[in-house]
Formats: sequence, C-alpha cells, structure tokens
Amino acid sequence: MGRLQARLLLSMAKHPSLRGHSNMSRRAARFVPAFSYDEATFFRTDGAPEALANKRRAGFYRLAELLQTRHAKSLALTAEAKPHVSDLQFTSAYRVPPPYSALVQANLKVGAFLERSHGVKLVDLDGHELYDLTGSYGVNLLGYDAYKACLQQATERAQALGPVLGSYHPILLSNVKRLCQISGQEEVSFHMSGTEAVMQAVRLARYHTRRTHLVRFCGAYHGFWGDVQPGVGNPVPAHETYTLRDMDDTTLEVLRTRNDIACVLVNPLQALHPNRNAPSDSGLFNSARSAGFDRQAYTRWLKQLRAVCSERGIALIFDEVFVGFRLGLGGAQDYFGVRADLVTYGKTLGGGLPVGVVCGAQRWMKRFDDARPADICFSRGTFNSHPYVMAAMDAFLDHLEKHQTELYAGDDARWNARADRWNARFAVEGLPLRVHNFASIWTVCYEQPSRYNWLLQYYLRAHGIALSWVGTGRIVFSLNYTEEDVEEALIRFVAAAKHMQDDGYFWSDPALTNAAIQRQVARDVIASFFPARQTQPAPQNPPHEPARAARREEPAVALDGTA
Ligand code: PMP
Repeated sequence: MGRLQARLLLSMAKHPSLRGHSNMSRRAARFVPAFSYDEATFFRTDGAPEALANKRRAGFYRLAELLQTRHAKSLALTAEAKPHVSDLQFTSAYRVPPPYSALVQANLKVGAFLERSHGVKLVDLDGHELYDLTGSYGVNLLGYDAYKACLQQATERAQALGPVLGSYHPILLSNVKRLCQISGQEEVSFHMSGTEAVMQAVRLARYHTRRTHLVRFCGAYHGFWGDVQPGVGNPVPAHETYTLRDMDDTTLEVLRTRNDIACVLVNPLQALHPNRNAPSDSGLFNSARSAGFDRQAYTRWLKQLRAVCSERGIALIFDEVFVGFRLGLGGAQDYFGVRADLVTYGKTLGGGLPVGVVCGAQRWMKRFDDARPADICFSRGTFNSHPYVMAAMDAFLDHLEKHQTELYAGDDARWNARADRWNARFAVEGLPLRVHNFASIWTVCYEQPSRYNWLLQYYLRAHGIALSWVGTGRIVFSLNYTEEDVEEALIRFVAAAKHMQDDGYFWSDPALTNAAIQRQVARDVIASFFPARQTQPAPQNPPHEPARAARREEPAVALDGTA
C-alpha cells in the first residue's frame, strides 16, 4: 500500500470529533481561555425569564445551605484538606462544566470524608447515610462488608510473613492457578494498579511483535499512562498511539494493512457508549449525552477484531480492569465469547487492596529471549505480589467462587429490569431522565435540552445518594443491592430530581435544542478570548442568547477519561 494511501486510510479511521484527534485536541485545550459565569448570569445562561432565574437562585442557595448545615463536619475537614491535597482540588474543580465551577465550588460543597460503610450505604462524619452509587470507581462489586471480611482474613493469613517483598507468600500460587483458569490464559503477572497492568501488557505486545504502535479506541479509558491517554490530560504528545473509531470497518482496514501495529486495546465498557469519553458531568454542557448497549453488535465487532488481529499477528488486549468479574466469573472474554491474547484486571480483584494483573499466553508474557540474553522486556514494581494483597485476592476469589450463583444470577435480565423500572418511574413522574445500562454499570441521560443537568449530582447528595466526582454519567451498583435497596435508591433519586424540577432547573424554552446550546457555548468560548468585552455588564438575554462570559477562572476543557 502506498504511503499516501495508508495515511489517508488512517485519517479516515479517526473519529471526526476532537476526541478522535488527540494531538489537535491536546493543542487546542491549551488555548481555550478560562471563563466563568458571574452570579448575575449563572442562573439564566439558557435565556430563562428573570422570575425563573430568581427562583433558581433562591433554590441554589437553599440547597447550598442544606448541604452546609447537614454535612458541617465533613465539609470542615474537606476545607482544611483541600489546599494541600492536589487530587481534591482537581476533582472539585471538574465536577461541573468549567464556566459554572467557580460559583458551584464556592457554594455547593461536597464532603470528601466518610466514616463508615455498611451494606450498600456510606456514612459521613456527620452521621448521614448515603446510598453508594460510586461503586468506589468500580472496585466495589461484592459490597463493602465482603471486602472487610477479605481484608480481615488477609491480615490473619499474611501477618506471620508481614510485608516481606521479593519472596512470595505461598498463597500466591492459588491465585495464579485460579487466574489462569478464569482467564483461560497460561501466565500471570502482578502489578500495583490497573494503569501499570495496561502499561505492561502494551510493552509485552511491542516487545514480541517488534512493532511500535498501540491502537486504542476513541473515548476509551485505560489509565493515566501517557501512551493510552494521548489527548487532553497528557502534557506531551504520544507519538506511538493511534486513536481509531470503535465499531467501524475502516479501523479493521487499518489493522489489516499497516505493519507498525503491535496491539489493539479494548475496554469493553465502551460498549455502553462507543467512541465517547467516560460520561463525566463536567462535560454536561447540554443534554446530548447518549448511551446504549447492544450486546450482539459489540460481540460481532469483537469477533471481527479477533480475526484481524490473529491474521496480522497483532496482540488483542482486553482491558478488563473495570468490567472484569462484574459480567461473570470469566469476565468480558466469556461474556462476549472472544478470547484475547492478553487480559488486564485490577480494581476489585485485590479484595479491597490496590492491584493490577496481566494474564496471557506464554508466548506473549515472556520477558526475555533465551537466544539473546540482553534482549529483555523489563518490568518490576517494588510492591508487586505483596503478601497482604495476595491474601486479600485469595479471599476475594474464594468469595466469588462460593457465591457466584447468587451474585450473577440472571445478570443481564436482572439489571435490565431494574433499569426499566427506573425509567418507567421517571416517565410517570414527568422527569426528563433516562438511564442506560451495561449490566450493573449505569449512565443517566437527559431527555430535554438543558444547560443545568450537572446540578442533579448535588440534589442527589442532598437526598442521600453518593456519586463519584464524575457525577451522574457513571453509576456503579455493587452486586449486593437487593430489590429493596434499588427501590429505595430510586425513591431518593426521584425525590432529588423533583426537588431540582421544583427549583426551576428542568425548564426549557420549547425552541431550545442541544445544537443551539452548543452554539451558545461556542460563542461564550469565543467571547472569552476578548476579555475587554467581558467586563461589560451581563446582557438581558433574549431566548437562546447566552449570558456573556465573565470572570476568568476555570479552564474550559472536557477531559479525556476518568478515574
Ligand atoms: N483500565 C480501565 C479500563 C480502567 O477503568 C481503569 C481505571 N478506571 C484503569 C485501566 C486504570 O486503573 P488504575 O486506576 O487502577 O490505575
């Protein structure tokens, strides 16, 4: 294939969005100026009439007061920690679209500290119970009480050896045997995080194929290592990454014809929203978020990928750090009926402790060449195979094997029925919400054009529901949620949404569309390039004309990924 033709094909296999063009988006992000809506315009950026804006303003400060008084201790500790905890500063700033962030951060506070967990609930420092829909970034599969038991058991079993590293606790062997069986692979390597497991899988693929490039799909998260996060979020360009369209024939053609591709990384969670970033509320500028899981179509796609990777000697890597063990004991490989060359696991597999794991066939896992002793794929990690982690993993796998029948019983049907029930209730209550799900991983979509959907996370907090900092885009249930728990969480969800509706935030001018909002936002960004104009008083907005951007504070970028 000619070079020009190959280049053209590569361009065609990129998603047309900025997400599909990592370098361009990374560069563009540096130039987007920070701006914030000031208090006078914050409540009517959608052109709401003044009376409604006043109602919203009153509701906003009532909600702020409620959160502040109810969670006083949790918030006081959070305020003390924030100036010194970089991660907390970051997550607080990116809970909502940046132009709204300053006023939100100043008023709607979310405590970062908790005291206890029990059943499916979390308890904060003020003794307030919250239904946990964070899933602890997906770690919480069994329910926290089960992990507490794993940790207790692990401490008892590992304490005689203690934190000795370099040699193994005998329990490691039982994990290795079970992981080989579960993954259908021959070898295992242990790491400290999902990011590291992915990094190692890609290094092995490059080592064994002698090729340079990894293929990841548009929007897919694989940890924060630079090569798998080539767009916004990475300070330097990733020269050896191709970000291609998910579920697209042109991508298959690129894989069929290029000679520099070492591996294809698949995060099966993308099946819920192919080619889109993890749906974080910081990107909820309008109601354009969409999702929908099509098991058959995604299975077909994975089979096509499997065939082309086998044909071309490319390593097919399933990154099951998020979905592993959630879809069934055999994970995505069994669920979709496709065997990968290398599989990464993490999160829940540590039984409550940090871990990353790579499983693969011997031919992919080997780190040295018998014939060339200096030709090595070096990989270490001080804390790999930590005795306590190995013992907690063993306890986790025990629990899973013992309870798999009830944990996974009728899994898809059970979770789909629960999601259907939520949607039916939303419809009856006249709420413009709809959940979409991939088993126990849910995302909330918004059915009516609005600029204020991101506010729902704060109303949910006030009604006793905990979400992670990415908000309503990523709801993760633990499998110990009973029908009663799901119903109770739904009751709270509906109460929160009604509260938000009563405060005037689900209002929308009938002529307002998501495209019109997008144009408004684009105009706001452009206006923010001209700070002189921003000092003008905010205009009285006619419908569809946005409030002019005011103070410069937060960067206006949508992130390429999540936790
Ligand atoms: N891969 C996937 C699919 C993930 O979801 C994550 C974490 N969300 C990672 C890798 C990175 O794992 P960790 O945060 O443990 O480094």
